[in-house]
Amino acid sequence: MRWGVALAALLCLNACIPHGPTSPRRPPRAAPPPVAARPTPQDVLACHVDLARLGVQFRVLPDQNFAGGCSALGAVQLVDIGVPVTNLRAMTCPLARQFARWAQEAVQPAADQWLGTRVVRIETFGTYSCRTVDSQPGARLSEHAHANAVDVSGFVLGDGRHITVLQGWNGEDERVRRFLRVVHQAGCRRFNIGLSPDSDSYHYNHMHFDMGRGPYCH
Ligand SMILES: [Zn+2]
Repeated sequence: MRWGVALAALLCLNACIPHGPTSPRRPPRAAPPPVAARPTPQDVLACHVDLARLGVQFRVLPDQNFAGGCSALGAVQLVDIGVPVTNLRAMTCPLARQFARWAQEAVQPAADQWLGTRVVRIETFGTYSCRTVDSQPGARLSEHAHANAVDVSGFVLGDGRHITVLQGWNGEDERVRRFLRVVHQAGCRRFNIGLSPDSDSYHYNHMHFDMGRGPYCH
C-alpha cells in the first residue's frame, strides 16, 4: 500500500463518483455511526455574509436528514457565482464559500495566464450524493453524503475549447496540463481535501474537493 493511500485511509478520506474501476488498494471499512456536525447559527450566518461579500447569489436550503445517515445541514444552493456551473445542488455553506472563492480567485486567473481566455462554464459531477467512500460496500459515508464535497470534471473556455480532467490531465497540451494542476493546487489551498487523477483510480476523470477533515492534497 502506498503511503499516500495509507494516509488517505488514516484521514478517513471521502471519495467520489462511482465512475472509476474498482481498486483493491482501499479495503472496505466498517461504517461508523452516522455523524454530521450541525453548524451553529452564528457560523451559518457568518458564511452567508461571506457569500454576499463575494457577490454570490444563493438560496438558503432547509436542513435535511435522509435515510442511511445522509444529510444536508446548513446548506445553500448557489445561484450565481459569476460563472455558470453545472450540476451544483445542495452544498454546505463553507463548501459553497470556498468553491466561489476558488472559481473567482483561482480558476479565472489561471485560465487567463495559461490558456489566454476566460472560463465560461465550470462542469461538475455534482455535490450531494448519499453514498459511501468510493461507493464501496461497508465503507464510511462519503463527504458527498453530507453535501460537503464537489467533483469538478471540466471547463468550457471563452474561445470554445472544452477541457476535461479525463482528457486533459495527462493530455498532450502542456498548457492544459499546467492549468489543471494549478487549479487543483489552488483548490487544495481553499478546501480541506483535494484529490485528482494522481490520487487513485477512482479519480481518473475529476478533481474532488471537500471540507471534511484534512488537510490532504494529492
Ligand atoms: Zn468526490
